[in-house]
Amino acid sequence: MAKRTKKVGAAGKYGARYGVRVRKRLKKIESDKSKRYPCPRCNHESVKRRGTGIWKCGRCKLVFAGGAFRPFVSPSFRREAVTSPQLVEEEPEEESENV
Ligand SMILES: [Zn+2]
Repeated sequence: MAKRTKKVGAAGKYGARYGVRVRKRLKKIESDKSKRYPCPRCNHESVKRRGTGIWKCGRCKLVFAGGAFRPFVSPSFRREAVTSPQLVEEEPEEESENV
């Protein structure tokens, strides 16, 4: 059987609608969604999307919140998402040097 959507892939479901650029962008996001990603805990490539923003590692069963279509969005997002006690450590104030 010949491949029906050689050029457009998953975006083929929209037919000729919405414009090429939008459909191409959508295709990338849809493929990112179903990929496997490295796990932040066990480093194994078995993190899969369970729902919008919900990611689960198939190996160590870690479930965590992430982006809607990718588990990690940007470096700043990642820093906010991780709430580890070492990261919220505050620098000691040095008031003795003030005159
Ligand atoms: Zn894991």
